[in-house]
Amino acid sequence: MTNAPFIFRFTHDLRVEDHAGLVQAAAHGEVLPVFVIDRAFEARMARSPRRAAYAVAALSALDRALRERGARLIVRRGTAAAILKQVARASGARGVAWTARYDGAGAQADDRLRSELEEAGLRALVVHDAPAIAPEETAAARPSGGNGYRAFVPYFEVWRTLAVAAFDAPLLVRFAATDLQSEPLPQASEFNASGGASAVAALDVREGLMRFLAGAALQYASGMNVPSLDGTARLSAHLSFGVISARSVVRATRKRLEDPFLLSEERASLRIFLRSLAMRDFFLQLAFFHPYADNEPLQERMRAFTFARSHRALDAWRAGTTGFPLVDAGMRELHETGWMHPHVRAVAASFLCYDLGVDWRVGRDEWDRYLVEDDPALATGNWQWIAGVGADLVQYPRIYNPDKQRRRFDPNGAYVKRYVHELAAVPVAAWDGAHAREGQLSLALFAHDDYPQPVVDHDEAARAFLARYRAFVNG
Ligand SMILES: Cc1cc2nc3c(=O)[nH]c(=O)nc-3n(C[C@H](O)[C@H](O)[C@H](O)COP(=O)(O)OP(=O)(O)OC[C@H]3O[C@@H](n4cnc5c(N)ncnc54)[C@H](O)[C@@H]3O)c2cc1C
Repeated sequence: MTNAPFIFRFTHDLRVEDHAGLVQAAAHGEVLPVFVIDRAFEARMARSPRRAAYAVAALSALDRALRERGARLIVRRGTAAAILKQVARASGARGVAWTARYDGAGAQADDRLRSELEEAGLRALVVHDAPAIAPEETAAARPSGGNGYRAFVPYFEVWRTLAVAAFDAPLLVRFAATDLQSEPLPQASEFNASGGASAVAALDVREGLMRFLAGAALQYASGMNVPSLDGTARLSAHLSFGVISARSVVRATRKRLEDPFLLSEERASLRIFLRSLAMRDFFLQLAFFHPYADNEPLQERMRAFTFARSHRALDAWRAGTTGFPLVDAGMRELHETGWMHPHVRAVAASFLCYDLGVDWRVGRDEWDRYLVEDDPALATGNWQWIAGVGADLVQYPRIYNPDKQRRRFDPNGAYVKRYVHELAAVPVAAWDGAHAREGQLSLALFAHDDYPQPVVDHDEAARAFLARYRAFVNG
């Protein structure tokens, strides 16, 4: 090792603990931490103000954590390649490490940056840090190796047997002392956002995870689909900005499973939670091995299947006024909080693709304007999966009946009432029949002026879609 420092460019890995990239950079020299505010970052932040507020808070928590270690974040605005070359020249750094992105646009930007830095004589290290288990590791465990997995079940069979690395030893990472100038940290107001994203310090997130593992995780199997409960971990934004590592979440969950006093249902719940975490890694490896799938269906045969780009009820879906309470509550939860309950996401996405027949890309891009999470590879993977054009998870389109789902998972309407205020005073029994002939009358009695009538007949729309889908697949 020489005395020359090695740059670590932070992106979606805003922490210092259990950090694969920092540890790799530290193997080549003292680490110089840099954050570049480039056009791509500005565009992602400007797109969703809540995302911007979160990122700004996470960056400032990262800077604090670095200062506690005698370092600080060097912030620069401009083009990544130009800035990193400049910082390397000014500091004598020999190279730059950063965390790999998996969405097509991110992966291409990584490739371009790598070539530009290498052309300038710098070493470029792109490190897997986002997944708990790197795509090549699961692929290598497959007899035929190659392009990873397109189906979740065989992927999970392998994933669950693999060890998860830890990059925890803080002594491995030494930061460089520097007098290089930094621009100020970004402010939420730069992106039309107001500040105030709370609990983004790694410590708070970790405490939240520990509370979850001690409590709700033990009932995850029954609670994960009930949107009125705090039954899921609410980790996606934290994982997407790397405030906590997926590795540490998986390790903590596996450790929890070692508790000999767990009941068998509790053990089963923890295993299902692990399956959810594996799902994240699965979609990341899918994007890693199929980088063109950002805007094209992964399934070749489905590329010619056309969804509509619009529908007379598209704006109602966007606004949460479709007349289907669960779908509307989900969309309004997203607008109000920047997050939507995972099961409601599946129902609301299915409604767009099948009841309205609208393209999954329209839905994905709409949600992107509100979500805090910044994980385009996961958004694409999930939307393609729901639309039946992506990972080989199901034989048939995943059509949910939004009213049946509501009756099953929100029977007393607690979730719907939280977001659909027009229904707060309407007895749930009156919603239940809302789509039957006499039910429409009963809902009309209570909410005629306030809450809209259903924009489509679900059964009719779903049957029509299925007929078209079958004709296409069999034709
Ligand atoms: C149509 C649709 C779109 C989605 N878009 C996004 C998106 O843009 N960004 C995003 O991060 N997630 C997306 N998801 C996945 C999931 O719904 C969210 O990550 C959700 O916020 C998880 O909430 P949680 O942390 O409480 O989940 P939990 O149920 O507690 O799960 C724990 C963690 O497992 C992972 N996980 C669980 N389910 C999935 C899944 N289906 N795909 C990937 N990871 C999963 C997440 O990292 C999650 O934080 C989408 C799901 C659907 C159905």
